[in-house]
Amino acid sequence: MPSAQVPAASAAPPAGAHPTAVLAAIAAGAAATVGLWWADTPSITGFGNWLTNAGRITGLLAGYAVVVLVALMARIPPLERGVGADRLARWHSMGGRYTVSLVVAHGLLIIWGYAVTAHTDVISQTSTLLLSYPDVLMASVAGLLLVGVGAVSARAARRRMRYETWYHLHLYTYLAVALAFSHQFATGAEFMNDRPARVAWSAMYATVAAAIVWYRFATPVRQALRHRVRVEQVVPEAPGVVSVVLAGRHLDELRAEAGQFLRVRFLTRDLWWSSNPYSLSAPVQPTRMRITVKDLGGHSGALARLRRGSRVVTEGPYGAMTASRRRRRKVLLIAGGIGITPLRALLQTLPAGPGEITLLYRAGSERDVVFREELDALARHRGARVHILAGSRRQLRYDPLSSAALIANIPRLREHSVYVCGPDGMTAAVTAALRGAGVPRRHIHTETFEF
Ligand SMILES: Cc1cc2nc3c(=O)[nH]c(=O)nc-3n(C[C@H](O)[C@H](O)[C@H](O)COP(=O)(O)OP(=O)(O)OC[C@H]3O[C@@H](n4cnc5c(N)ncnc54)[C@H](O)[C@@H]3O)c2cc1C
Repeated sequence: MPSAQVPAASAAPPAGAHPTAVLAAIAAGAAATVGLWWADTPSITGFGNWLTNAGRITGLLAGYAVVVLVALMARIPPLERGVGADRLARWHSMGGRYTVSLVVAHGLLIIWGYAVTAHTDVISQTSTLLLSYPDVLMASVAGLLLVGVGAVSARAARRRMRYETWYHLHLYTYLAVALAFSHQFATGAEFMNDRPARVAWSAMYATVAAAIVWYRFATPVRQALRHRVRVEQVVPEAPGVVSVVLAGRHLDELRAEAGQFLRVRFLTRDLWWSSNPYSLSAPVQPTRMRITVKDLGGHSGALARLRRGSRVVTEGPYGAMTASRRRRRKVLLIAGGIGITPLRALLQTLPAGPGEITLLYRAGSERDVVFREELDALARHRGARVHILAGSRRQLRYDPLSSAALIANIPRLREHSVYVCGPDGMTAAVTAALRGAGVPRRHIHTETFEF
């Protein structure tokens, strides 16, 4: 796939939602949710009633938050393009912790509040609630499921678990949402006598459910039928790294931008069950696209053995580390290891004149460098500066990505838009070094290869 011949995607990609606007919309929804409680609560008297009302608010907010969590992961294109899959995953994980806390607080406050009001103890109040109130038992199972999903997602537990195990356990969230839904109308005072509130709440759940079905299930099937993607070639690039060239129809209609990634499912006997994210390592052509993959486990390792003609289902494109983020004329691309893939595509397509793009590419050793010839050709073709920095810091005798080294080697560093992709540790260190060198946070754009 010679780089100089590859045209950029034909149509301009649709705009994404701005992260601040998305957060504002989420906050407005939370305020409206509290407004439901407010409208239904003329006065609060007594300690038991205070506790019960705190329980109602936390329950309502939990019911709202869980829908937001699911929506963030529904792969809604404006969110994926505007906010970025990695930031959405971070919001989802942080929001998950709040949601589980709200669910637990709701249960405890309601039991305590009812117990105080009824002058009974919390044990007998718990059994009364579980056995006599409609749908509370089902909602309690839902709450326990959410707490369980939260526990397996805690960093310590997650690290010890295979990605697939964690992912499949995570799907119990959908069951929890379904189980808890009727409880909200059966016992939620805000909804029992307020039809418009019930309709609005149901519409919110139905919209998110429709988004999940559409974007996570129907769209991949539609894309598969339209594009009929197959493996065309597997090209060794370096030890443990291969490029997979994919052939298909009308691929330009995907409107994928350099810097974005696809979720790729290879329909072979071993791999059909898993859809993994891989960045486009070259701009998409109408009948070809390419990913480049380092062997880091079962899925990525198996790609070297793919046969020509194997069928492929792609989802996406996703990701927000694209040319539209750029705010400065000068661009610095910083790649670490296999993080070169999206930056290689950006190097080719970013609109820029001679001398405006610099690529710094850190690799463990000379052997690990991929795309060396392509990078040289692109540097010549685009008038870009490409610096390959291979070897450990000890071998190099300095840290080429420290603030001091960046300031010394990149003239007018502060005037650059910077794109960073590499291992999470490196990305964090480089971001700190750039901040230390005076590059504003809003001019640093990163993509993580770990969700
Ligand atoms: C946005 C993005 C872009 C990426 N682009 C590239 C690329 O261009 N080239 C490349 O070599 N690698 C890329 N990766 C990393 C690649 O997805 C993982 O290395 C690969 O999925 C590992 O799967 P495995 O079965 O080989 O290894 P495993 O040992 O199963 O997993 C290793 C780690 O990879 C991650 N992972 C595994 N499966 C998935 C999945 N289905 N979805 C999300 N993360 C998963 C998990 O963090 C896991 O801990 C990218 C990752 C992301 C999130």
